[in-house]
Amino acid sequence: MSTLSPDYDYLCSAVSRLGSEAAFEVLGRARELQAAGRDIVHMEVGEPDFDTPAHIKAAGKAAIDANFTHYAPNAGIMEFRTVIAEYATRFRALAQPYTPDMVVVAPGAKQIIWNLLAALLEPGDEMVYADPAYPTYAAAAGYLGAKAVPVRLLESKNWGLDLDELEAKLSARTKVLVLNSPHNPTGGVLSHGDLAAIAELATRYRFLILTDEIYSRNIYGERFESITQFEELRDRIVVVDGFSKAYAMTGWRLGYCIAPVKIARAATLLANNTYACTSTFVQMAGMAALTGDDAPVVAMNDTFRMRRDRFIAQLNTIPNVSCPMPAGAFYAFPNITAITHDDVALAKYLLEEAGVALLGGSCFGDAGRGYLRLSYANSLQELDRCVERMRAALPNYPN
Ligand code: PLP
Repeated sequence: MSTLSPDYDYLCSAVSRLGSEAAFEVLGRARELQAAGRDIVHMEVGEPDFDTPAHIKAAGKAAIDANFTHYAPNAGIMEFRTVIAEYATRFRALAQPYTPDMVVVAPGAKQIIWNLLAALLEPGDEMVYADPAYPTYAAAAGYLGAKAVPVRLLESKNWGLDLDELEAKLSARTKVLVLNSPHNPTGGVLSHGDLAAIAELATRYRFLILTDEIYSRNIYGERFESITQFEELRDRIVVVDGFSKAYAMTGWRLGYCIAPVKIARAATLLANNTYACTSTFVQMAGMAALTGDDAPVVAMNDTFRMRRDRFIAQLNTIPNVSCPMPAGAFYAFPNITAITHDDVALAKYLLEEAGVALLGGSCFGDAGRGYLRLSYANSLQELDRCVERMRAALPNYPN
């Protein structure tokens, strides 16, 4: 219990430990500039620029007309959970199928990540995660009084994990290891070797793996590889996935986890106590996404690949900018240390002076210092404008 003081503002101390997702802040500033008449190239927000495929929209509309507008079960509509379990088993080529009682549906992957960590982390527990990272993992851990322990991803390994650092940071206090492959913000994909090494460490140290696979359909190599292939670890792996990125459904808010039943029950209890259930007609749209024509997903991915190839090649022609070829997601994470280590100041300069909205890499953690994050989920024309503006503005950066 806190003691009231003159500047008491009613907020609990945990709030002061919350960061925020910089993408939304930069988007806000970019929109302000636009409202004032500035022309802005948007590279800041990680969402597909495509519209939701027509058959998914039609299923959502039909579900409203069929009155799927009431509360649904906390963990999700049973038929939908069955479809998710089947899809996830097939997609990851697992010998042992997932069952619907392992699936918990949520209004977005972000919500289920938060609720899972709330179900898993005791104050003082350690959550190990790759740095840089999607900010929600560390935000949730910090809020819960747990310790978020970063392990560097290495540009020299095409954004693979520093396995020596990982092992050095594991201890009896390590409760959860968070993986995210394909990765936000680097676009990196964990190699088979990294996954195997992590699986071996998980066997030895007995931590739980939360694997955020929301970009599993945004992959430009041969096929998606998941830590779930090590099926002997099944009782200690929680998969998070969602519809935002693969199906261009960010605004629908739809995600899920697949977890050992005991953890799924805890996530369901948290659902019961927080969001109650995920919008019923949105779940019906999600069902159409998983059971309907997959061609739009493949087409979107092909377009991302084409944009990636051209955009990364062009970024590398800008003096003092170097960017490895990302193998997944839709982010470029160029190294700008030849210009400055203050990536946030450079991102601000590029927005204010050149009209390019992007993020400093350190918004995703200390290991992102000296990098920028650009989402290439944008048209070729806009990507070209981005490169030309950066090329023109960077030599004048007042360093
Ligand atoms: N996980 C990662 C790695 C992300 O990048 C994002 C969104 O940017 C999410 C989860 C959240 O997705 P959702 O829209 O399903 O909440």
